[in-house]
Amino acid sequence: MVYKFEPIGFIRSPYKEKFGIPRQPGLITEARGELVFSEPYSRPEAVIGLEGYSHVWLQFVFHQAMREAWQPMVRPPRLGGNKRVGVFASRAPFRPNPIGLSVVQLEGVQARDGEVVLELAGLDLLDGTPVLDVKPYVAYVDSIPNARSGFAPEPPAVRFQVRFSDLAEGQLLSRPEPDQLRRFIIRVLEIDPRPAYAGDTQPERIYGIRLYDFDLRWRIDGDLIEVLELAPPG
Ligand code: SAM
Repeated sequence: MVYKFEPIGFIRSPYKEKFGIPRQPGLITEARGELVFSEPYSRPEAVIGLEGYSHVWLQFVFHQAMREAWQPMVRPPRLGGNKRVGVFASRAPFRPNPIGLSVVQLEGVQARDGEVVLELAGLDLLDGTPVLDVKPYVAYVDSIPNARSGFAPEPPAVRFQVRFSDLAEGQLLSRPEPDQLRRFIIRVLEIDPRPAYAGDTQPERIYGIRLYDFDLRWRIDGDLIEVLELAPPG
């Protein structure tokens, strides 16, 4: 049996590549984005009532994690990337049906310029992610404060302090909403965006993350991350 679904819309997100995206939603509330509904789902009446909710569930396709074959076990970054668990005990993008589920903040519902748009915050999604469905988050049923959470009982720890070079600071100040952008960049970096298998820190290495319309370039020095520049995308 094969079921066919088509996206109801697509995500606009500051995350332009997988590297740097938090591993779950809600970790970086400064990560603002949008769900833009596509035809024929772009109907203002289809979202009437949604403005009464603070959060929504998004069901989406991990469109950059499509593989022909699936593996029954995965190595979650949370376990250092060297221990395996069953794919259904994980939230890994690589799964038999590459479908993700995220609860995100709903900041606004807009029908403008012929588009129906949900304004969202706390995303863990790549720009262009196809969305299959939206449902309101209902606290009395969806929130289970005492639930056991397997190998991920706590949010990821803050690992680094983040500072900006003079060049990066100047570039930040020339952009709209610099304080918000500064907080966003700090949140992305302080929890260590590197994959679990990244190994020991190499002080000479310069890392890059594509965010918005720039390439964030940074390096690690002990417990400190220095943002070197917000470079034009290479
Ligand atoms: N909250 C969702 C869930 O539990 O189904 C996603 C969790 S998954 C571990 C989050 C990671 O998926 C992100 O850190 C990013 O690397 C990756 N990701 C996000 N959007 C993606 C997409 N459209 N295609 C492939 N990978 C994506």
